[in-house]
Order: sequence, then C-alpha cells, then structure tokens
Amino acid sequence: MSLIVKKFGGSSVANAERLFNVANIIVDDYKNGNDVIVVVSAQGDTTDDLIAKAKEINPDNPSKREMDMLLTSGEQISISLLAMAIEKLGYPVISLLGWQAGFYTDSHHGVARIHKINTERMKAEIDKKKIIIVAGFQGINKYDDLTTLGRGGSDTSAVAIAAAMKADRCQIYTDVDGVYTTDPRKVKGARKLQEITYDEMLELATLGAQVLNNRSVELAKKHNVELEVLSSLERKPGTIVKEKVKMEKTLIRGVAKDTDVSVISVIGVQDNPGTAFKLFNSLAKKNIEVDMILQSVGRDGTKDISFSVKRSSSAEAIKSLEEIKDNFPFVDIKCANNVAKISTVGAGMESHPGVAAKMFEALYDSDINIQMISTSEIKISIIIEEKYADKALNVVHDAFFN
Ligand code: ASP
Ligand code: MG
Repeated sequence: MSLIVKKFGGSSVANAERLFNVANIIVDDYKNGNDVIVVVSAQGDTTDDLIAKAKEINPDNPSKREMDMLLTSGEQISISLLAMAIEKLGYPVISLLGWQAGFYTDSHHGVARIHKINTERMKAEIDKKKIIIVAGFQGINKYDDLTTLGRGGSDTSAVAIAAAMKADRCQIYTDVDGVYTTDPRKVKGARKLQEITYDEMLELATLGAQVLNNRSVELAKKHNVELEVLSSLERKPGTIVKEKVKMEKTLIRGVAKDTDVSVISVIGVQDNPGTAFKLFNSLAKKNIEVDMILQSVGRDGTKDISFSVKRSSSAEAIKSLEEIKDNFPFVDIKCANNVAKISTVGAGMESHPGVAAKMFEALYDSDINIQMISTSEIKISIIIEEKYADKALNVVHDAFFN
C-alpha cells in the first residue's frame, strides 16, 4: 500500500465527462489499496475567465487581496465537482480548500510562498480511508486571508503535499503524455523522454517547455520528490523527473525555442572599470532580468555591450539606461525584437566536449548566423534571427536525435 499524490490540470477536469474520467483514474488507485490525495486546478479556462471578470470592474488594479478571493473560487468549483463524481462512483471522498488542507503561506497575494503545511486534517481523513481532493494554487496567510501561489501553482501544491505527507509517488497529469526532446508540434522527430533530471527540467521549463510549473520543480528538487508527468487521457507511463538519470547516447535531453527575447545593444560606452556595473545595476534596480551578455573588444577607449531581456521588458530597460545617461555616457542604444533563442539542454554535456561544436555545425549547414552565445554546465543557448527559429529548432534537434 502506498500514498499517492495526483494532480490534474484544468483541461483534465474541464467538463463532466473529463471529471468522471479523472474520478475513474483515482478510484483505480484507491481500489488497489492505496491512499490517494488529489490536487486539482480550476476547470478549463476558469482562472482566465475570472481575471477577465475582474477587469470588467476595474481594468487597472483591483486589490490583490480581492483578486485572490476571486481566483480561489475556481478551484472550489473543481474540487467539489470531482468529489461528487467520486461519490457517484460509490467511494468515500472529501474535498478540502487550501486552508482546510493546512496550507499556510506568506502574504504576497498572487505570488504567495508556502510557509508550512499542517498535515493533521489530511492525515485524519486518510485514517478514515477517504480519498482527499485538495484545491490547488491556494492557501491562507497569518491574517486568515486567502492567498494564491501564482499562475500554474497547482503543480506546486501537489509537490508540497507529496513532500509534507512523505508520499510514495507524485503524479502530475496533463493533456500531453510527458516531456519531449522538443516541441512535438514543431518538430516531427520529437521524442518522449523516459526520464529527465530536475536541473534539465528547470532549464527546459524556463525555456518555455511549459509542462511543469518552475517553482514546483524547484520544490521537488529541494525535497527530492520524484515526479511523473503523464496524460489523463491515455493510460500509459509518462516522463519521470528526478535527481539523477541514465545518460543517453544523445548527450542532450532537449532543444527549446524561446521567442520572448529582445537584444539591446548599448553602443560606445566607456571602456573602463564600473561600466558594466552601472549598466546592469540600473536594470537590477528595476527588477529587469538579464539573460545573455556580450561585450565587444574595446577600441579608442570605448566598447559596446549587448544583452538580452524578455521582450516585454525591453522598453523599460531602454528607458532605465536613458535615465542614467548623465552618469553613464553612450553613443546609441539599439533594440532588436526580431530575435529568438535556441537552447540545447543536457546534464551529459558537462562531461562530453563537442556538444557546442555539433550544435554550431548544424546551424552552419543551414546558413543560420549566430548573434550571441552563452553556455552553462548543462545548457548552450544562442540568439539568432527570429525568422529562422523553427528551422534552427529542427536542424539542431535532428543533429542530436537522428
Ligand atoms: N488555476 C490556476 C491557473 O490557471 C492554477 C493552476 O492551473 O495551476 O493558473
Ligand atoms: Mg489552470
């Protein structure tokens, strides 16, 4: 007998038919003698619809407390309906809101972090042999106000329960059947991975793989909770996310594309100590995240510095540099929005040279020019012109996986 935590995303519980499908998956585990705790998201696009309703009332800034009051209602609907479906199948079940399940968070409405989970209630219900359905993405702060964990936060709720209850398994059900080597909608030869490490998953998640919420993977790594990502629509094994996995012959685990990128070039800055500090400090003060940085060789006492940011923060970044121009002279600022980032990720590249060369060769063969490069132990990213992004994704993927 095991304790199994299962999480179902919004599309998996979108309507009555899907709810009964999920109820059957849960009941099958329960019938086999397991204890089951289930976390669910709001049905379908409920959360987006609720946000739209709030905007009708106040398009600018409804208070964050009231937004949380509103958004937590989406999960209240899905947990009660799922519990009713399980009741209908004839099994003992109880639904719990985040606070009833013992989720205590800080007070950062909309992006709250879990402080602790008081597991008493869940343990008591398990002792009564009940299936527990918990509302994902929510908790309560020390003032007894409802909080939410940020978009996609139900994954984090599930991992947190698995860690707190020392579950034997944590399964994240979604509408894809696992994690792929690249976007299967864009690349024909994309393959499903059997296993992936937390670190690789984190890189792919930030790069836009969008199967698991980032914070949930960080939490799983911290508490060493093994995750399985699988489909609620097909009954077959998914992808396991864990600390260490077997290296495959391919050396890399995946290739990702990110088009939410701009490259800003600051031309003709002084070539002396403090220049990089002034530039990036002004961005840091505005909380603008910088990804890649490239500095040209100095000539005649000046140099150029280019960096990449999320496209949505490029205007703010330029503004912030113009604001410090008195103290930070430069000749010109250029911003390129027609760029994309392609990254290969894999823990194996650490011990195997040649991954970068292979990636660059694939791009050379397709006549795609590389504008910027950055590497870490498990990732190589390049910036190219956006119009070549899908092509680059395909040729780089083929180079490693075909
Ligand atoms: N319903 C919330 C959202 O759409 C939480 C979640 O889906 O995990 O962001
Ligand atoms: Mg959702």
